Amino acid sequence: MTTICENLERVRSQIADAAKKSGRLVNDIELVAISKTHDAEKVRAAHDVGQTLFGESRVQEARAKIPELPSSLRWHFVGHLQKNKIRHALPLFELFHGIDSLELARDLNRVAEEEGMHPRILLEVNVAGEGSKFGFKPETLRQEMEQLLSLNRLSIEGLMTIPPLAEEAEASRKFFVDLRELRAALETEFDMKLPQLSMGMTNDFTVAIEEGATLVRVGTAIFGERSKPKLE
Ligand SMILES: *Cc1c(COP(=O)(O)O)cnc(C)c1O
Repeated sequence: MTTICENLERVRSQIADAAKKSGRLVNDIELVAISKTHDAEKVRAAHDVGQTLFGESRVQEARAKIPELPSSLRWHFVGHLQKNKIRHALPLFELFHGIDSLELARDLNRVAEEEGMHPRILLEVNVAGEGSKFGFKPETLRQEMEQLLSLNRLSIEGLMTIPPLAEEAEASRKFFVDLRELRAALETEFDMKLPQLSMGMTNDFTVAIEEGATLVRVGTAIFGERSKPKLE
């Protein structure tokens, strides 16, 4: 567990360096420690050294893990939310990063209304236009924004993206710039504020910070390699 402590210290100092390099305030960037596949003990170890915000990408796993941990921890959902999991997910998470279609947003709005809740969400954008990926295409998002804004249970706080897998962090930069520019265009066009940009993972979070990330989602650099190949 000392490694988790060391890893967190290293990630925090990398965040501070990237903020400084780009003339940003370190307090404007929040680290979401992505704990998927890792057990509650590891989360506790991170919490013991001051990490309070965690991210999960599967509702079932989160429903088992979250109750094992102190209620002072804060949780974000970062995965693709399945329609039939919305009701269970709503009370667990303070922010949903991966709202990736109008249909899902409508379902979330409807269940939130039934449950008397007002979820905070980020809209996931498929900036690279990869066919296999979840997320709004930028042009579709512009077309559907009016309808999204009419879903009055949802508080749309920003955008999120997962760029294509790449070896080099620099390969992600253009996608982070695209997300930031799309945010600016939407803010102007719809006269709204989208303060949050969720972008950057273990391989590229420092580049994401240089390009304006307010939330970085870091798993492997904190908790180590995940044993199961992919749980999303
Ligand atoms: C797993 C996951 C992460 C963390 O990835 P690492 O490369 O381990 O930092 C970030 N965002 C999402 C959406 C994820 O599913």
